[in-house]
Amino acid sequence: MAIRRLRSLLPLSICKSLPFQSFAIRRFCSSSPPPPPRIPSFLESVGFIGLGNMGSRMANNLIKAGYRVTVHDVNSDVTNKFSQMGVPTMKTPFEVAEASDVVITMLPSSSHVIDVYTGQNGLLHAGRVLRPWLLIDSSTIDPQTSRNLSATISNCHVKERKGDWETPVKLDAPVSGSVIAAEAGSLTFMVGGSEEAFLAAKPLFLSMGKSAIYCGGAGTGSAAKICNNLALAVSMLGVSEALSLGQSLGVSASTLTKIFNCSSAHCWSSASYNPVPGVMEGVPSSRDYQGGFASKLMAKDLNLAVESAKQAGCKYPLTSQAQEIYRELCMGGHEARDFSCAFRHYYSGMDEPLDQ
Ligand code: NAD
Repeated sequence: MAIRRLRSLLPLSICKSLPFQSFAIRRFCSSSPPPPPRIPSFLESVGFIGLGNMGSRMANNLIKAGYRVTVHDVNSDVTNKFSQMGVPTMKTPFEVAEASDVVITMLPSSSHVIDVYTGQNGLLHAGRVLRPWLLIDSSTIDPQTSRNLSATISNCHVKERKGDWETPVKLDAPVSGSVIAAEAGSLTFMVGGSEEAFLAAKPLFLSMGKSAIYCGGAGTGSAAKICNNLALAVSMLGVSEALSLGQSLGVSASTLTKIFNCSSAHCWSSASYNPVPGVMEGVPSSRDYQGGFASKLMAKDLNLAVESAKQAGCKYPLTSQAQEIYRELCMGGHEARDFSCAFRHYYSGMDEPLDQ
């Protein structure tokens, strides 16, 4: 009672300066956020496969959020980092499945995902009885592979019933956002598959991202991601082309970027992920295009977009032009550099000194 009266009398600034002994008073006065919601028991143990640029950060955010995480990657350099942090590391995807209620994969492409699911010692190694009730693939892959895997999983059974789930479910849940967003836990998930499973898995998505958007049945998350990355490739190439032209016409990229960012050319590629070395700190262009989203991954996504456009019978002039540019960049030895390197290595744009 006395503490409540005190709280109503004291301004917050004074409450904050109270010594630790006054914990009870501090607690009442505290402006800190409430504790995170309790993790539902059917999501407690999570297996994470694919600890590259994105996956390592996503797995870290799950660990920070309190999930019991088990990991696997074919690259022992990355798994060693996790075992040094005390995270259980498994030798095969099957071992991960045997230890987890939920398994998340974050792999380069469709063939890697198929291998992890159906290859030797893969997630489905034991046949049609699975320990996990939920399998989430966040890799960017073709919608047909997502649909096929979803159908395969729906023919399996769970070893032990978890909550209401007797049949395991697969969601395709690729992400938008760079490595920076993966680190900050601010990714956007685009999710295809059972809506009920999507709703049940939402706490997981929101531990790694700022939003999760339900797209429809199996494969629609993958389809949405391909469309997103097609638009991204074209906008990055458009910004790079315009900034490089600007330099040739005597307008610096820094000046043009300032104009774009408060004009109709404003977009993520100019405002948050500028491709010109020296214009913005903390993005791949400022560190010789290292880290980030590799050109070979963008080339892969554009191949998926071209294939999807062919299947849908659509015209795709910008898709095929962008595909050609990224193919050329990869063949020129830039496949591991961030996709914004088109500015320097395709358009021959120039670096600019910071704070020009
Ligand atoms: P990455 O190449 O950095 O990481 C992939 C990881 O998968 C590597 O650690 C690799 O060793 C591991 N791996 C490959 N085959 C494996 C197998 N059979 N078993 C276990 N592990 C295996 O790729 P990334 O940049 O983290 O991207 C992962 C996915 O996310 C891709 O599909 C990509 O298109 C998508 N994506 C990437 C970004 C980005 O900015 N990097 C953004 C959005 C989406």
